[in-house]
Order: sequence, then structure tokens, then C-alpha cells
Amino acid sequence: MRLVRQRGTSLELAVRKIVAGLGARYRTCVTSLAGSPDLANRTQGWAIFVHGCFWHGHEGCRFATIPKTNRSWWEAKFEANRARDRKKRALLTRAGLRVATVWQCELKHPERVSKKLQKVISPR
Ligand SMILES: [Zn+2]
Repeated sequence: MRLVRQRGTSLELAVRKIVAGLGARYRTCVTSLAGSPDLANRTQGWAIFVHGCFWHGHEGCRFATIPKTNRSWWEAKFEANRARDRKKRALLTRAGLRVATVWQCELKHPERVSKKLQKVISPR
């Protein structure tokens, strides 16, 4: 289990592959944008976050388990993570970007993720 956020994880690599498959160009870990999205193309106006279900507290997800020890601490931690994620999305949306979040559990079905990302990358 990872305790620190890393870059270039297998989750991110899987999403990069899908985005590349859509023919889109992108930058990774875009610190020039609010919330430093994992993938983004500012010119085209889109940003993508890649979230591990556990750390980001994916609601209703079977991977988002709450450890039995220090339960209330973990619940507060996950809620804080969720709130931070919501804020990041809101900042980017306000800046006029189309934002998508890809969850770890969704990557079981890359074709669905591809469809979802297509709407953000090249809508219409
Ligand atoms: Zn999930």
C-alpha cells in the first residue's frame, strides 16, 4: 500500500495509454493548472484526474474500504481527500476546462473509460 502520492503509477500509465489511443496530446502532472491535474491539455481545454479508490475515498466502491483501526481518523482523512478533489475540480471547471476523473476501479473496463474521456477531450 502506498503512503505517498506518486507520479507515473500504473493507474496513470493505463490512463495515458487510453488518452493516447484517442489521439490526444497531453502533459502530465500539470502544475501550471489549479489542482495539478494528472493529465491535461490546456489549449484544448481539458484536464483529467486519476484517482486510486482507497486514498481518494471513492464513494460506494468496494476498493474504498475503511481500515478498522482508527476508523474515525480514516473517515476524516478520506472526507478531507474527497473535499480537496471536489475543490480541484471546481477550480478547473471555473477556469473553463472540461474535467474528468478516472477511478482505479473503472480501469477494469478501458473501453468505457475511453468513451468517458472522449467526451471531455473531443466533445461533439
Ligand atoms: Zn472505485
